[in-house]
Amino acid sequence: MAKKDIDWGNLSFGYMETDYRYVSNYKNGAWDEGTLTKDANVVLNECSCVLQYAQTCFEGLKAYTTKEGKIVVFRPDLNAERMISSAKRLRMPEFPKEKFLDAIQQVVRANEDWVPPYGSGATLYLRPYMFGSDAIIGVKPANEYQFRVLTTPVGPYFKGGVKPLTIRVCDYDRAAPHGTGNVKAGLNYAMSLYAIVEAHEEGYDENMYLDAATRTKVEETGGANFLFVTKDNKVVTPKSDSILPSITRRSLVQVARDYLGLEVEEREVYFDEVKDFAECGLCGTAAVISPVGKIVDHGKEIALPAGMTEMGPVTKKLYETLTGIQMGTIEAPEGWIVEIK
Ligand SMILES: *Cc1c(COP(=O)(O)O)cnc(C)c1O
Repeated sequence: MAKKDIDWGNLSFGYMETDYRYVSNYKNGAWDEGTLTKDANVVLNECSCVLQYAQTCFEGLKAYTTKEGKIVVFRPDLNAERMISSAKRLRMPEFPKEKFLDAIQQVVRANEDWVPPYGSGATLYLRPYMFGSDAIIGVKPANEYQFRVLTTPVGPYFKGGVKPLTIRVCDYDRAAPHGTGNVKAGLNYAMSLYAIVEAHEEGYDENMYLDAATRTKVEETGGANFLFVTKDNKVVTPKSDSILPSITRRSLVQVARDYLGLEVEEREVYFDEVKDFAECGLCGTAAVISPVGKIVDHGKEIALPAGMTEMGPVTKKLYETLTGIQMGTIEAPEGWIVEIK
């Protein structure tokens, strides 16, 4: 066993086939034992429920090497729980938490040579997902399902330094009230593709989605939650039933309160307030926090005081503290860092 010969620091966020993936099948009302396989391909019936009706949900987390040389994952129990709530909403069977955590252990151990070394900034991205696999033509849930975890090494998010993002207020909606915005369903991403391609064509990095009912409140982007910082250093994050509960955002809220002693407000955030904030960041597993420098609302620009060259001071402290906790240089709250055995 030896680390793969990869230029870790120059990897992008792309798919690279690794040696093993985990597979478990659900049939006759039960999950099988689950196994590792070298086969990266999935063969499905032409009428499988996922292909016809998008019955699929997923998760995303990272395995990486700490300063002490341990391979760890960050809060995988929360991914397991979130996948259960996604599965319920899509009428899929729950993949049990203990089985999920065991699958993560197995698949990372099997791909140990693909886990980037400490200091490279790269990580092994883990993608658990589940889909309805048997043939369904009348609209109803599948009878059979497959749960898989694929792994792929991904490079440092801030390659060549931090570059604050420019985002636009989006005219399309991401999630309806009482819809599926709060679960990690593939369908939420399929319908976001039109908006993100259009945003990129117009020179924006991301879309800021507003609440679909009133279009007055900030929700999130296509794949990350918002954190704002007020001019008097309060952390503010939008609360809504149609936002995906980001594990990074929930962790940063705890870091802000318990490590940095900051006041945090989780509440509805009106778009009208955004012009008064000092800092804005997007939180998710990939970047932890990406600073936002500019928000454009149909030609009207909001330039955040933090600017277009670096993270604002509070965003930076939050980023450094959480990444320090993840990498083992700052003591973690109980249960946040799970070692691969
Ligand atoms: C996955 C996801 C996030 C980020 O969640 P993390 O658990 O922090 O990675 C935020 N918004 C949406 C819509 C997502 O799908």
